[in-house]
Amino acid sequence: MTTSNPDYHLETRLVHEGHERTPFGETSEALFLTQGFVYESAESAERRFLNEEPGSSYTRFSNPTVTAFEERMASLEGAEAARATATGMAAVTAAMMGQVQAGDHVVAARALFGSCRWVVEDLLPRFGVACTLVNGPNLDEWRKAVRPETKAFLLETPANPSLEIIDVAGVAAIAREAGATLTVDNVFATPLFQRPLGLGADCVVYSATKHIDGQGRCLGGVILASTEFIETKVQQFLRMTGPTISPFNAWVLLKGLETLTLRVERQTASAGFLANALHDHPKLRRLTYPGRPDHPQAELICRQMNGGSTMIALDVEGGKEGAFRFMNALRLICISNNLGDAKSLVTHPATTTHQRFAPELRAEMGIPDGLVRLSVGLEHREDLLADLGQALERV
Ligand SMILES: *Cc1c(COP(=O)(O)O)cnc(C)c1O
Repeated sequence: MTTSNPDYHLETRLVHEGHERTPFGETSEALFLTQGFVYESAESAERRFLNEEPGSSYTRFSNPTVTAFEERMASLEGAEAARATATGMAAVTAAMMGQVQAGDHVVAARALFGSCRWVVEDLLPRFGVACTLVNGPNLDEWRKAVRPETKAFLLETPANPSLEIIDVAGVAAIAREAGATLTVDNVFATPLFQRPLGLGADCVVYSATKHIDGQGRCLGGVILASTEFIETKVQQFLRMTGPTISPFNAWVLLKGLETLTLRVERQTASAGFLANALHDHPKLRRLTYPGRPDHPQAELICRQMNGGSTMIALDVEGGKEGAFRFMNALRLICISNNLGDAKSLVTHPATTTHQRFAPELRAEMGIPDGLVRLSVGLEHREDLLADLGQALERV
């Protein structure tokens, strides 16, 4: 028996949901680090393959530790079903590939995580699926991009790294009218601060590598949707192509979920503190933070999010040279391309994650050469402020 109960508060479910104890009565979730499973009889194996008997047969199809992680994620997101994947990119790729075939058309927001944009802009067209990229915040562009063969929409909000916001309910309504589905990459908002399914989206994808692990240990991804969506669009693709998460990683991620609220709430509070403290700094051309009332889309943020973000976008004076000087002067905060970690990290998107885009395309995506993306970790906020302050002085 699992200890799940939908009436429990989120924090309680994040500690207990999906936990099915073995006869050994272990306190923590059991780790089933096994490729396969054995059967009591040949008849039992036959029934398992006919789906007439519950239980796992092979870890590419299902595994009890992975299932526990999926159940906890579904509870967190308010989704009927979840499937875990090896990485966030495996989740995005499976969610999109699973929905389309040659002749179909996809509409996606231009400001996407670099690899997500490659999937829709480069990979799907190789298989005869056309793609139109739009300026996400402009609902008219989504409406105008729709064609009779449009099957799926994809967006990310807040966007990486510009922290620009897209109206999820507005885009979902356009998708519904077009007979298409909407998939939202919810990594930057985290499951705590934005519920795309509640706003009308059909599918939510996460890189669990980020806040869900939250301590920089392992990669993972999740797809969340209705049971019907998972069973008709995603399940077969995952089982047959095999972007399976290791049970070990699912076990680490289960552990991450136990402390998700504590970590994300603290990191968001620190990010808000740093954004307020640095906002008028003379070495910053601009500071963008979704929790501040001066964010250009503050009203929309109030409507669709119930928290700020662990991320801050800093446009440092002096372009790339200024940004590099700032980053190299940091003593505590590390240079990395990851985010959502317990350790505070900075990234220069123009030369790393978004390097492959021409300068005009980067400008379109809201990525000036001076932009530094800061992922706020769990260090004491005064230590972080001191480090950022001394590094900005060196610009
Ligand atoms: C990191 C990230 C991904 C990809 O996740 P991986 O786990 O690295 O494969 C996708 N979307 C967003 C917004 C991300 O930040």
